[in-house]
Amino acid sequence: MPSPREDCLFCKLVADGEHVASAEGFVAIRDINPLSETHLLVLPERHVDTFKEVDAFPDEEAGRMLRFVADTARQAGLDNYRVLVNVGPAAGQTVFHLHWHVLGGRPDAARIASALAAEEAA
Ligand code: 5GP
Ligand code: ZN
Repeated sequence: MPSPREDCLFCKLVADGEHVASAEGFVAIRDINPLSETHLLVLPERHVDTFKEVDAFPDEEAGRMLRFVADTARQAGLDNYRVLVNVGPAAGQTVFHLHWHVLGGRPDAARIASALAAEEAA
């Protein structure tokens, strides 16, 4: 596994954040600014800036990453949920360490509106 990036928030949270689920090479954390009742982030330990570099994951690891996204949702008690990856700043990506949003329960409309407004202002 390549070493973590010194200046990367999510590399730090992989190493010592509060994990709600974990598996070899992956952790899940709660989003600090939830956009729905349940808002988790799945973080791979392997640092890549964006989903565009998903080729950096060996096939076996990429497969386990997808399964871990589903396991995280299941362990959180979610049956109906959304999985989202923002790719690039114009698509709303703000942290440049690949992560998967897992959103379940009622959306927080006010927070979504303010996140979209922040995106438009950027
Ligand atoms: P993006 O906008 O890059 O798709 O998603 C980044 C997410 O990381 C945002 O939903 C934001 O609320 C969350 N986030 C940013 N800083 C922190 C932090 O320090 N801790 C946690 N748990 N989430 C964070
Ligand atoms: Zn990182």
